[in-house]
Amino acid sequence: MGEDFQKQEFRLQGVGCSPGVVRGKAFVFLQRSVEEIPCYKIESASREAEVRRFEKALEATRTQIAGLAEDVRSRGATAEADIFDAHLLVLDDPAIVGETLKAMSTTGLNAEYCFNSTARRYIEFFAGLEDDYLKERVSDIRDVTQRVLKNLLGVASQGASDRFTKRVIVAEDLTPSETTMFERSNVLALLTDMGNRTSHAAIVARAMGIPAVVGLRNASLRIAQDDDVLIDGEKGIVYINPSEKTLACYTTISRQRSRLAALIEKELALPDVTEDGRAFHLEGNISGADDVESLKKFRLENVGLFRSEGIFLRHDRFPDEEQQFEEYRRAAEALPKTGTLVVRTLDLGGDKLISSSLLAREDNPFMGFRAIRFCLEFRDIFKDQLRAILRASAFGKMKIMFPMISSVAEVVAAKEILEEAKDELRSRGEKFDEDISVGAMIEIPAAAVIAEDIAEEVDFFSIGTNDLTQYTLAVDRGNEKISHLYDPYHPAVLKLIYFIVKAARKAGIPCAVCGEIAGDPAFAPLLLGMGVSALSMTPSCAAKIRYILRHTSFDTMQTLARTVLAEPEPRNIQERLTLFINSILPDSE
Ligand code: PEP
Ligand code: MG
Repeated sequence: MGEDFQKQEFRLQGVGCSPGVVRGKAFVFLQRSVEEIPCYKIESASREAEVRRFEKALEATRTQIAGLAEDVRSRGATAEADIFDAHLLVLDDPAIVGETLKAMSTTGLNAEYCFNSTARRYIEFFAGLEDDYLKERVSDIRDVTQRVLKNLLGVASQGASDRFTKRVIVAEDLTPSETTMFERSNVLALLTDMGNRTSHAAIVARAMGIPAVVGLRNASLRIAQDDDVLIDGEKGIVYINPSEKTLACYTTISRQRSRLAALIEKELALPDVTEDGRAFHLEGNISGADDVESLKKFRLENVGLFRSEGIFLRHDRFPDEEQQFEEYRRAAEALPKTGTLVVRTLDLGGDKLISSSLLAREDNPFMGFRAIRFCLEFRDIFKDQLRAILRASAFGKMKIMFPMISSVAEVVAAKEILEEAKDELRSRGEKFDEDISVGAMIEIPAAAVIAEDIAEEVDFFSIGTNDLTQYTLAVDRGNEKISHLYDPYHPAVLKLIYFIVKAARKAGIPCAVCGEIAGDPAFAPLLLGMGVSALSMTPSCAAKIRYILRHTSFDTMQTLARTVLAEPEPRNIQERLTLFINSILPDSE
């Protein structure tokens, strides 16, 4: 293949989900297929570090498996716990580990490649045996191999391999936990074949401030290891081998965007009031106590959505009451005294899974055993969480919010369990906020339709537009094949939002929006014009949204809402909202 052909620029269009223009070398992370584990030479000076990286990955895997065994055993599933014990034996097998270390030293190749080759040899050996018991070990070794490889690819750290540092990660797909596994300083940008703006990996990337483009369809096949790539995370464009002309064009675009960012930044400290003096409320979405720090930078006082499953995903297990309490307390204490923290109870399932037999993969995960459905079934896990949140409410203003509500009965059942949790804390003599507010996420069309009835049972609503859009339009939010159909501009979605807001207003309760559109410049004025009480978003989105709302009158927002709600054509709505924003933001491209 000639040099010239390789150097030819080509452009891929995906969904821009975390802004930023960056250029760097690609690291193609093919996590799905063991056959495609990267293979590269380690410099002699880095070999010791590579061995430490391997040992660190083994240790991380050991902790995860032991945790899983303990977790499953504590729920009485002894037979399943035995499987994890067998996995621990594989991990400690001196033959596999020893042979890997030997291969690393004799070949000078990277740990994942040597470990994978060794493990595969053992898999083939056991698979060829007659003895059924020994044959069983194949699946154990396979499972453990996957875990170690996942940890190795995740824990690749500075110094261990310069193949990984400061790279643009290209993957077929990334789960939210895989996304958080990367060392932030090692990642220039994330590109995935699958996903959509609201898939959870995209949300995590945005929260981590990593430029990202998802839904690129076959980028992981078209981009080769070490390719030179230029990413526009705002527009969702990726250039492979960018030409001089493209690079020059992006220098101008970057300059333009920096000017706008400086202008927005200058206004950050001004009060949150519209042009005609009406106060508006912006809040932050977070996934862990450490994220509270990022709120301060963007002058946000309240957390409108703490995605509590972030804690579970980070531990890759069900953390106990104490571990959760520590994290909620830390988050509550990190907020300003006047701040409020809305903790959304566990929303695992869908595209957010941990290694637990309680949460198996499903054919239709977004329509499946997710969030409140799981919590109402596994009441002990739910109650651990509720007690932890309640205890943290003695350290700062907290609210509890239930996700994926589809009926009044679910809210009633969840509140009953909350009362049990309160009783248990009372009998333990623990302090908590007796009047803690309880809210419901409205993100399933059924809940929207019966919002008036649900409002009778709760103190507040928060509209989860990410799910509301996918369920209203029957479009999987993570499926790139139909991402063009995932359309929050669709009048059905907008009318439903307005319907929910009116139901909340009638019941006299506040109604926020915490889906991704709350932090989207095109939607923010529209939502406020509809009567939404607060917008909760990835903190880094707040500066731009604040600028837009400060430069618009509430009256104009209401007129905008009326016009948009009367428009049947999604593309006309999009055009109308884009024109509106461009009239406010200087230098719009
Ligand atoms: C939503 O669905 O809009 C939401 C905020 O929840 P999540 O994205 O975590 O499902
Ligand atoms: Mg949701």
